[in-house]
Amino acid sequence: MLLGKYLDENISRCETLFTCNQDSMFILDIEGHVVQVNPAFEKISGFSTEEAKQLKLQFLFPIDNVNKVFHHFHKAVLGQFQNFDCKMMNKNGQLVDLNVTNIPISMNDQIVGVCAVGRDITALKRKKEEIRKIEEMQRILTDDVLDVIISTNMQGEILYVSPSCEHILGYTEDEVINQNSLTFIHPDDKKKAYMNRKKSLDTLGNGRDCYRVRKKDGEYVWMESLCKPIIDTETLLVLEVVSVIRDISKQTKVEEEAKKREETYRDIVEYSPDAVFIARGNKILFINETGAKLLGATKKEDILNKKVIDFFHPDYHEIAKKRIKVVTRGDTTDFYEYKLICLDGTVFFAEVKAIPTIFQNKPAKHIIIRDITEQKRTQELLLNSEKLNVAGQLAAGIAHEVRNPLTAIKGFLRLMEAQADNNQTYFEIIKSEMDRIELILSELLVLAKPHELKFEPVDLNRLIDSVKTLIDTQAIMNGVHIETSYCAKNFMINCDRNQLKQVFINILKNAIEAMPKGGVVTIELKKHSFNKIKLLFKDTGKGMPQDILKRLGEPFFTTKEDGTGLGIMISKQIVENHEGTIHFWSDQKGTIIEVILPLMRPKQV
Ligand code: ADP
Ligand code: MG
Repeated sequence: MLLGKYLDENISRCETLFTCNQDSMFILDIEGHVVQVNPAFEKISGFSTEEAKQLKLQFLFPIDNVNKVFHHFHKAVLGQFQNFDCKMMNKNGQLVDLNVTNIPISMNDQIVGVCAVGRDITALKRKKEEIRKIEEMQRILTDDVLDVIISTNMQGEILYVSPSCEHILGYTEDEVINQNSLTFIHPDDKKKAYMNRKKSLDTLGNGRDCYRVRKKDGEYVWMESLCKPIIDTETLLVLEVVSVIRDISKQTKVEEEAKKREETYRDIVEYSPDAVFIARGNKILFINETGAKLLGATKKEDILNKKVIDFFHPDYHEIAKKRIKVVTRGDTTDFYEYKLICLDGTVFFAEVKAIPTIFQNKPAKHIIIRDITEQKRTQELLLNSEKLNVAGQLAAGIAHEVRNPLTAIKGFLRLMEAQADNNQTYFEIIKSEMDRIELILSELLVLAKPHELKFEPVDLNRLIDSVKTLIDTQAIMNGVHIETSYCAKNFMINCDRNQLKQVFINILKNAIEAMPKGGVVTIELKKHSFNKIKLLFKDTGKGMPQDILKRLGEPFFTTKEDGTGLGIMISKQIVENHEGTIHFWSDQKGTIIEVILPLMRPKQV
């Protein structure tokens, strides 16, 4: 009430001051109700006088400013002048920065209200913020420890240098101003720097290059320079060239070290006795000499960029993929036995291990392959020779222990046969059984006497022909036809004629026995390499399943009712005694047996 009276009395007096004031003014009663506002307030707040009169103080200010506003309002109600900055919310919800002065209104020594004068300082604040940003920008540009900013004129003379120059290069501003920028550049890099600058001036584009810059202490450091001509927009002439140069010696060192490391790594890998390749994803990026050879490539390019998985036998794809995942996760895998495939399709056994590595700055896999074909063969040989030893000892024992009683039995049998007229069939059976015992004994004796070999030059073609003649009758009786195919004549080998004959007879007998309903056996003779000859015995018999194939060569292993299970074992040993090899392949359509023997050298013939 009192305030109303006061206003009635005073506002008319200060009409102009109130209505024409640039600053917004609003008058509040001591409870904080808006009682009067001026046009400047209407303008800044967007509220009309009528609307403003309905407003409570707290609705004019954002929530985080309300406390502050009330604090200063109360102080004013207590009679103190207040001045503070705050934000006010206009009708549209936008914030306005205000500097507010609260003036207590008193009447008869009693505070009846507060006149708040708000000055819009939004523009001022914005300006301040802009200045702060510019200052910050300048600080970053000039003080940043890594960069030096240099401005040069068209002649290359330094017009300006940022303070960071002293910190980085050691020169004070006075030491470089008016000097030609090229004087600080390493003699070997001067031309490059000059050309770079010229190019930038000619094209009016940015230039970027690296050169060595001399520091005040005489040391040269590698710096990267970015330069840009500044152009007068009116005359289109170049005013100056601004360059930002940065010390990259540390970076260059790191890069050089990384390069060196990679070179050393490459060397280690390249000369590793193991086959190594480096792959990313499924792609081979690098392979060493040993690796290329192992996989049957004449040059590395035949393998590079190929898929890793293509070199694994399909049976091993699943496990290979699983283990690739382990490496991708960053773990190393142990050596694992795989079947791998060469470029020409040959399959071999190898142990493979993979290690996560970094190649050309990106994660990759370092894959080590160890060919274990030889190892496997040696193992097999060891196993076989062990068995052979046992068999040999057995053979010697049996030969001695059985032969003598057998001779006695035979003699007495003959006597009994002469005296008895009946039971002839019994005698026949006994005789045939004894023949069989003798057959086994004679086969075993070959084993027991491997040292009594008589090597001589033998014409292999003729040897095979003689074996064929020998076995043809048996073959024809079984409906088997034996064919020979020689790619040349007079293959001379150094061998024990009878032992080799034994081998071929064993093989051919097995072939005939595998074809109870008849069939064809082909004997092929061809050159294997410049000093070896290859013999292939192919039959059209019932073949062997994998489990039998694996056991071939074990002493006494047979699938036949009347078999001895010694034929292949003996043949194997004889071939090996001749420094040859024997291999078997088989499926339901038949069996192929490959015998490789060394040829005699011409001067031996
Ligand atoms: P045996 O002939 O007395 O059985 P071998 O050592 O000669 O003993 O042969 C061992 C086994 O190998 C035979 O029992 C047979 O199962 C198998 N075998 C050998 N050669 C062939 C062949 N050409 N075709 C099918 N099976 C064969
Ligand atoms: Mg046999």
